[in-house]
Amino acid sequence: MVTINENYLKLSGGYLFSEIGRRVTRFKAENPQVHIINLGIGDVAGPLPQAVIESMHQAVDEMAWPETFRGYGPEQGYDFLINSIIEHDYRSRGIELDADEIFISDGSKCDTGNIQEIFGIENVVAITDPVYPVYVDTNVMAGRGGEADAAGGFERIVYLPCNAENSFVPQLPEQRVGLIYLCYPNNPTGTTLSKAELKKWVDYARENRSVILYDAAYEAFIREEDIPHSIYEIEGAMEVAIEFRSFSKTAGFTGTRCAFTVVPKRVVGYTRESEAVSLNRLWNRRQTTKFNGVSYVVQRGAAAVYTPEGQRQVREMIDYYMTNASIIRNGLLKMGFQVYGGVNAPYIWLKTLDGMDSWTFFDRLLKDACVVGTPGAGFGPAGEGYFRLTAFGAREDTQEAIERIKNGLKL
Ligand code: PLP
Repeated sequence: MVTINENYLKLSGGYLFSEIGRRVTRFKAENPQVHIINLGIGDVAGPLPQAVIESMHQAVDEMAWPETFRGYGPEQGYDFLINSIIEHDYRSRGIELDADEIFISDGSKCDTGNIQEIFGIENVVAITDPVYPVYVDTNVMAGRGGEADAAGGFERIVYLPCNAENSFVPQLPEQRVGLIYLCYPNNPTGTTLSKAELKKWVDYARENRSVILYDAAYEAFIREEDIPHSIYEIEGAMEVAIEFRSFSKTAGFTGTRCAFTVVPKRVVGYTRESEAVSLNRLWNRRQTTKFNGVSYVVQRGAAAVYTPEGQRQVREMIDYYMTNASIIRNGLLKMGFQVYGGVNAPYIWLKTLDGMDSWTFFDRLLKDACVVGTPGAGFGPAGEGYFRLTAFGAREDTQEAIERIKNGLKL
């Protein structure tokens, strides 16, 4: 008799977005004439920047000739892309990285989900709450979660609540933890950490020999001067942090798939005998065994993001989404909502009306405004009572959604 990994059974059956889909489908069936505006999804509207398209076309043509055809590439990614990343994303900020500290991949979802494999099962994991659900779920699947608890979380995971009361700044854990997931700019709250706040985490990790898994998928949306773009801007982070970046939201690669993970060679974990082992070595072993690289065509497309044309086009795209973000943010503020995020991130996080729970608010917004958002409770226990809207919609839809919320909820 084959047995299963029972940890999977500990996860709640429905993924957040399936439940949203179910409720929207039912509402559409009952109200076939209405046009629903979806500000719930985290997908970009596209299309890809022209520079990316041209570069990918060229790369496809290279595949047509034996002299320029590419078969299996390096699992870690091609040098032309890695060198551009080092130059533009890091050296420009005074951060020096070696080429073998960067691993190109097909997405930060996979990397943030897979990275836990190289750590011992006994590690205590700290996760900011609310947050991108992949961190919790992949640790639960691996057996680091323990049982689900009454608060809607897992007993072995240390939740670091982020809410209006603490200005969305997580407190250092009281107990010693091994792994710390930080995501800034944050999905779903859209908030950021200052350098001084991030420094506290780096210091904690150095003192406790912990590792920070820093998800900077939304780095390109940072607008304010003093917000760190990379955790390596913080002194000492090169010894304790792994950083994840993605082309998904930065350059419209959600369907094209390209991302990268930085694992500095100085970051270590320990054996039971307290022997330090380079995590770069382990991640390299993991990737070369289980991953066969991102396609040449896609990596050529990603490299085009760093050309002057590509940079200009990507900036325009991000400006477009950030204008949407300020339309949503300012519109909601005028209606009297308590609103967070939307300044350095494409996410706007609001407090529901009259202390409503987040699913009730979801239903109310759908029924009275025909607008779809994401209930905060879907991102962790501390998300209850909050709601997420995204700036990734078309401009007209975004403006119309704000009007509808104002009129539909009579604000
Ligand atoms: N990290 C965060 C915080 C995200 O919100 C997302 C996507 O929504 C990802 C990672 C996944 O990115 P990718 O498309 O590169 O897998």
